[in-house]
Amino acid sequence: MRFSDETLHDIKCRFRRELENGLGRDTHTTATVKMLPTFVRSIPDGSEKGDFLALDLGGSNFRILRVKVTQDKKQPVQMESLVYETPEDIIHGSGTQLFDHVAECLGDFMEKQKIKDKKLPVGFTFSFPCAQTKLDEAVLVTWTKKFKVSGVEGMDVVKLLNKAIKKRGDYEADIMAVVNDTTGTMMTCGFDDQRCEVGIIIGTGTNACYMEELRHIDLVEGDEGRMCINTEWGAFGDDGSLEDLRTEFDREIDRGSLNPGKQLFEKMASGMFMGELVRLILVKMAKEGLLFEGRITPELLTKGKIETKHLFEAKSKEGLTKCKEILTRLGVEPSQEDCVAVQHVCTIVSFRSANLIAATLGGILTRLKDNKGVARLRTTVGIDGSMYKMHPQYARRLHKTVRRLVPDSDVRFLLSESGSAKGAAMVTAVAYRLADQTRQ
Ligand code: BGC
Ligand code: MG
Repeated sequence: MRFSDETLHDIKCRFRRELENGLGRDTHTTATVKMLPTFVRSIPDGSEKGDFLALDLGGSNFRILRVKVTQDKKQPVQMESLVYETPEDIIHGSGTQLFDHVAECLGDFMEKQKIKDKKLPVGFTFSFPCAQTKLDEAVLVTWTKKFKVSGVEGMDVVKLLNKAIKKRGDYEADIMAVVNDTTGTMMTCGFDDQRCEVGIIIGTGTNACYMEELRHIDLVEGDEGRMCINTEWGAFGDDGSLEDLRTEFDREIDRGSLNPGKQLFEKMASGMFMGELVRLILVKMAKEGLLFEGRITPELLTKGKIETKHLFEAKSKEGLTKCKEILTRLGVEPSQEDCVAVQHVCTIVSFRSANLIAATLGGILTRLKDNKGVARLRTTVGIDGSMYKMHPQYARRLHKTVRRLVPDSDVRFLLSESGSAKGAAMVTAVAYRLADQTRQ
């Protein structure tokens, strides 16, 4: 699981080829990294304004927000939000149930905001791969992460949500834009830093978007300007191109997942699987007598008993004590040495993630640099997600490795403080302004 710089450079080059395959006319349909056009053509320019609703579905929480954007210098964006439950039976149920639920929560939110009589423009952050031919149409390619809702793949989620809202009949909404969470993050950060042209999520899932030259996007007409591309890098490796790097633990994780054979890079790098990877390694070590004097308990053998948040705790200042607590709950009676070893395993698993992401991000950055034809790339990467935000050493590791892999660059990493929904509101604001112009 520990990669040399040579291996990381190699992964970077492999990923760059994936980018090109996903963009090309003849290679797109069979490409594993889908490179989906988003129809977002620029980052915010500061002239956005209005009163918007934003839905955020597919991250760790389902949130609904009201976002007011003004020209006020001191506080241009005001946000109010509520988190709604998305019960297990809904994320594994039917499409009708899911969108009825979303429509119900939106109604509740509008009621609480006392805006049920208004028809506000809505931006929808939907954190799954979608094929788009315009901003307000998004056909779900496939579910990922913890979601598996029947009857939605191949359908336009805007239509499904509109139908659910109409069926209720107690309020109206104008869904103007669907954006991936990576795009939302890039736009959120772009509001504060005009140089931002990449967005990354390292949370339950992982993905990235960036601004590509339109002349390189064969799927979209036109050669002038740029468009944001949702790479869907989580699927990197689904054609076997990472087989030499995957371990027996990665294969076991994949076998037990909702989508075997899919999202193989995501399964090595995102937060959803980190705890489980550590657990599988500990089981193997215990079986070989390398840990806990060979003690194996039913808890240790239970899927999900080590959570990703435990990895963050094990690496915090009180790490050893925390480690002992976690292992004691698993009933394995750890020695001091066991705790140190387990900490080490946690480090290796999470640093592998940081290294892999540094390599793929490196691929995007070198592409941006070539697109611009500059000797040195100066850019900003907007970034969000629990792995990046909560793990005490993750961000540093990622930054350092990126700078080593792309030495001819000055990269600023900007944490998205207010999430991707603010960015979705920005996209909606621009769409709203343009629609308004054509109406007049
Ligand atoms: C999805 C992406 C999303 C990422 C982060 C992945 O599983 O396919 O669309 O951006 O998770 O939420
Ligand atoms: Mg083109």
